[in-house]
Amino acid sequence: MTNVTTTAIDGILEANQEFVKTYEARDLLARPAKKVAIVACMDARIDPFRCLGLAEGDAHIIRNAGGRVIEALRSLSISQQLLGTEEVAIIHHTACGMATFTDAEIRTRLRENLGADADHIAFLPFSAKEIDESVRADLAIYRRSPIVRQDIPVRGFVYDVETGALREVLPD
Ligand SMILES: [Zn+2]
Repeated sequence: MTNVTTTAIDGILEANQEFVKTYEARDLLARPAKKVAIVACMDARIDPFRCLGLAEGDAHIIRNAGGRVIEALRSLSISQQLLGTEEVAIIHHTACGMATFTDAEIRTRLRENLGADADHIAFLPFSAKEIDESVRADLAIYRRSPIVRQDIPVRGFVYDVETGALREVLPD
């Protein structure tokens, strides 16, 4: 690499050097103060802390493509059993990248780009029109899991990337 090439990660490292100068979170506890765990999409437009009025130390934010619960169960289980969270919010959102492909398409792309056989992997896409259904499906997956608490509030939402508003989706 030449010294004129600056990657995004180089920029991140520089930003971190600035960050440590005013860092104040060292006295926070690992146990989330609001005792809540949030499962949300990794979408770059969503800042869960800001849009949900949270601060460092307040909550566990478990993020993945789509905010899918099946992929978050391990983290939720640890969050509840070891770190004391007692509520779960599942947040999917409008205009999600998960509505832009099918399993067949991403498997083909992986075969072409990486020579990988991903036919056994479910990438969990959903239709943009069925965003409420994807939330309900994930609420149901949560309810069927033996490794997460069933005696606590678990609620599902759709976040609107146009307005920033959160709308609750009630289970079936
Ligand atoms: Zn998304």
